[in-house]
Amino acid sequence: MEVISSVAHMKQWSRSRLVEGKSIGFVPTMGFLHEGHLSLMRRARLENALVVVSIFVNPTQFGANEDYASYPRDPKNDLKKCQTAGVDAVLVPSAEEIYPPGAQTFVTVEKISTPLCGASRPGHFRGVATIVLKLFNIVGPTRAYFGEKDYQQLQVIRTMVRDLNVDVEIVACPTVRESDGLAMSSRNSYLSPAERRQAVCLCEALREAESLVEHGETTSQRLIQAMSSRIRREPDANIDYVRVVHPETLEDVDIVRGKALAALAVRIGRTRLIDNRILQTSLSGSWNPPA
Ligand code: AMP
Repeated sequence: MEVISSVAHMKQWSRSRLVEGKSIGFVPTMGFLHEGHLSLMRRARLENALVVVSIFVNPTQFGANEDYASYPRDPKNDLKKCQTAGVDAVLVPSAEEIYPPGAQTFVTVEKISTPLCGASRPGHFRGVATIVLKLFNIVGPTRAYFGEKDYQQLQVIRTMVRDLNVDVEIVACPTVRESDGLAMSSRNSYLSPAERRQAVCLCEALREAESLVEHGETTSQRLIQAMSSRIRREPDANIDYVRVVHPETLEDVDIVRGKALAALAVRIGRTRLIDNRILQTSLSGSWNPPA
């Protein structure tokens, strides 16, 4: 496995293999790797001749009062995990290598970046779209793998790839969870034992919504109420948002017809966690048309 820190070296590594006709599966990450990340690498391993992982805590996707400086980092262990997962190359650039002085070009994916996490984290998806497009230009992947845990991020990237004619196949991978259902996340490491016990309320709220839908509930307002009251049972939980939205446009829906996405962001103490689940009703008709 090669560990590459320079953009020029990474470009040359990829280009020389692509001209040989080899496919490249690419997994962009911010490191502090867990089973969720590893599931993406394994899928990429199955579907491509070569696998490239990037580990880069991207400063432009963090707000001024967010956790960029304290974001968990463990480069030595991350490289071991990549090696075990059969990764061929790991890109570990510095922030200066990625954003040299004078960098002033950013990618804004407009409508889809606005609701949900976009509303509470202004500029976040601009940072995400910019780094992902830059990494695509550097690595030139055949396929790129993203987790459904960050559902809005996945939709932002799909939209960017479509709108800017980027030549890469986006592959969505299911959310990997702890045994009690908590979605794996590098940020779970911030949780105290008491907060960790409370954090299960996110997935339990989503399960409750799913169960209500299975019993015939289709009104978003009632689903949101049920999810919110499950979360409010935890003393250290503060809701950022709880929504039921169209799974492609991410616009609010009033009645769930066919598929909808239940999405939530909750602060447990000082740690902001997100989760989501596709709800499927037996109501005939396709997804609610956007308003
Ligand atoms: P991050 O390092 O948090 O930026 O995540 C890198 C990639 O891993 C993104 O595509 C995430 O959606 C994905 N990912 C993070 N957590 C999970 C999880 N629990 N299950 C599946 N994919 C995940």
